[in-house]
Parts: sequence; C-alpha cells; structure tokens
Amino acid sequence: MSEDYRAMWESLGLDLEAHDQLLSALGEGYRQVFLSREGRPRGMEYFDFVMSEVHGLRIKELLAAKAEGRKVIGAFCVFVPEELVRATGSELVGLCAGADFAEEEVDRILPRNTCALIKSAFGFKLGRVCPYVESADLVVGENTCDGKKKGYELFAELVPQLYVMDLPQMKSEAGRGLLRAEYRRFQERLQELTGVEITAERLRRGIQVVNRKRRALARLWSLRRHDPAPISGLDALLVSQVSFYDDPERFSGAVEKLCRELEERVRRGQGAAPAGSKRVVISGCPMAVPNWKLPAIVEGAGAVIVGEESCVGERGLRHLVDESPSDRDGLLEAMVERYWQIDCAIFTPNPQRRRGLQRMVADYQAQGVIHYCLQFCQPYQMEAMLVERELEAAGIPLLRVDTDYGQEDVEQLKTRVEAFLEMLG
Ligand code: SF4
Ligand code: SF4
Repeated sequence: MSEDYRAMWESLGLDLEAHDQLLSALGEGYRQVFLSREGRPRGMEYFDFVMSEVHGLRIKELLAAKAEGRKVIGAFCVFVPEELVRATGSELVGLCAGADFAEEEVDRILPRNTCALIKSAFGFKLGRVCPYVESADLVVGENTCDGKKKGYELFAELVPQLYVMDLPQMKSEAGRGLLRAEYRRFQERLQELTGVEITAERLRRGIQVVNRKRRALARLWSLRRHDPAPISGLDALLVSQVSFYDDPERFSGAVEKLCRELEERVRRGQGAAPAGSKRVVISGCPMAVPNWKLPAIVEGAGAVIVGEESCVGERGLRHLVDESPSDRDGLLEAMVERYWQIDCAIFTPNPQRRRGLQRMVADYQAQGVIHYCLQFCQPYQMEAMLVERELEAAGIPLLRVDTDYGQEDVEQLKTRVEAFLEMLG
C-alpha cells in the first residue's frame, strides 16, 4: 500500500490485526501466482496496481463518493444489474470472496455442508476484514441457490440494509416476467435509497458505461483464440475479477490499452505459453479473488487456459444491452433481454449452458474442459453430470474437479490435472 490507510480502515470498523494478516497472505499469494511470472504483458501493470491498492485507493474513492452523497451498493451475483445502479450515480461492488476467513465463527452459524463462496462471505463479514462490505449502503442478495437464499436470512442480521432479489429459476415466459418485475422493483428501491430519479437518459448512460466494459472484455477474450494465446488464463481471469471492483470507465480504458498490446503480440506471434501448448476451457462455479488455485495448477503444468465459462468470465460478463430504445421502459426491457441470456445452473433445465460451452471449446480451439465445482454447490455439481455426458458424446475430454478454498488437495489436483493434460490430443 502506498499510503497509510489505517485510519480509514479503523473508521470502517475493520479488525486491524486480522486485516493485516489477510493483506499479508493476499500479497504473498499474489507475488507467487502473478508477479513471479515472466513475460506478462506490460498492460497488466495496471491490474497489479489495482490489486496492490484493492483495500486502499479504491476504498478511498468509494468513501469519497459517499461523502458527495452517492451510494455504494454491494452484490453477490451477476444478475444484479449494474446499469440501474450506475443510473443513480451509485457505485456497484462485488462482495464474493475467494478465501476462508473466521472459520470457527462461520461454523457456529452455517452448516458444514455450505459452499466456500457463501462461507467466505460470512467469514469476511464476521471477521471484519472486508472494507467493501463495510462501505456498502445496501447489500443486494438474490434467491439463486438454496444456500444463498437461506443464508441471506442470517446475513440480514449482520448488515444495516439487505435487499433480496427474487430471480426466476426457469427460462419460461413467466420467468421472464418475474425478472422484469424484479428489475422494476429494484429500480424503485434504488430511487428511494438515492433520491435520484432514473430517467431514460440516466439509464442509457449507465448502459453505455457497462456496455463499454463488457465490449472491452469481449475484445480481450477474442484475442485468446489465437495460438499462441497472447495472455495467460491467470492474467485474463484477474482482469475479469478486477471488473467487479474497479471504476468502470478507468477499467475499460485499461483493458482497451491491454488489448492493443495483445494485438501487437498476436502480430508478432508472441504468446503467454509456446504455440502448440495444450489449451483448456474452465467451466463451472465463479472464482473470486484470491481464488487462483486451480488456474495456477493448470498453467503451472504448462497448459494455457483460453476461456472461462463462469460468471467471472464469459457466462456472466458477455452480451450487451441494446442502447437504442428511446424510453426508460424500452431500455429496461433491453436489460431484461441481456440478462435473460445468462445460463447459470440455478435454471432448470439449462441446455443453453452446455451449448455455450461447446461453442467456446470450438471458438477457442481448446482440446478439453476442466469442470470446476466448489464442494457442496448443488446446482453446478448436479449439472456436471449432464455437461460431462454431452461433452463425451461430442468427443470433448472433460476433467471434473470438486474442491474448496483450502490448500490440502493441491498435490492431488496437480497429479490429476497433469494426467488429464497428458491425454489431450
Ligand atoms: S453462478 Fe449463478 S448465482 Fe452465481 S453469480 Fe453466476 S448467476 Fe449468480
Ligand atoms: S458456488 Fe454454488 S452453492 Fe455456492 S453460492 Fe454459488 S451457486 Fe450457490
């Protein structure tokens, strides 16, 4: 950290000692996984900087926004529409965490068979180590999986204001109607919270800002189709992870700059790994910072990850909202249309996800898929069987990995991943 932020963290009520431990573990992990690697694109320096200031400068910016009377909204799911949040001049930050914390306290509240993503959200709050959740004026939950749906009833006791969005579970007309109604209800709640009326012009501006971010990410992903891939999967994942915290305009500018450099790399045939390296797509549960365990193992074994079929990746961040409707209702409907395409495993049935995954394998010239699940994640673990069957029928090799945030299974995972890569054609 380039400044002493301790007074700021103290004012947010953080446990400074525990927070020091978290930052030091995060910094060490980051050095090992990212900074120690050679030949990374120069454009990644921006993202290294953001990560080095993730609890510093960005929090200072959020607090400055609050001092101006703007609001900070925290969310756990990519169905929470950033466009509406931006339309009120508020900031949206992702609250998912990728590390265990305050495990004993969490175990007193949650059942043991709860996924690590939910446990870590509770752990960061109970351990008072997350300045994002402490800065949030409103935390938005959603009834996606059962763990989250019921978990929010307990989380509501820990934060000043929790709002729960009722998301559809089937891609039916009734389901679509529910999404539309829920986005309208969220619009009302945001207006009430901020005192800002969401006009068509404000909403269009919000859509444009978020579209620019998604367009920049799509440009980055499309560059990974080349062999050699000009950027590692780890760096590309980091960019997606940073998209959940950073100022969107600044972030888009940094990704666009990175893409220009990667286009140059493609012209020169320069890759993150040599041409002909084994190429895989990772599919499944989202990976939040600092969950880099599996990608580090895969790329440490000499393969390159060329795509993420995940909410911290294409599934959650692709597709744009049509900016052309003239009125607010039309723009809201365009948002419904965009979000309706997210094929999360909470939907049943969910064949679109499997089709999308096969398309990614072809587009990114991948030789196989690693299906990644957090233990106790029923939607993705159950769906894994259908994914496996369909890919097998299409002749696409798949490795299923069920894991958590612990490091105990690293050696075993390395052995399984190496054996899988060995057999790829
Ligand atoms: S996996 Fe499903 S529940 Fe999780 S962020 Fe994505 S859409 Fe939301
Ligand atoms: S990883 Fe699975 S169980 Fe955990 S919050 Fe996401 S959908 Fe729910």
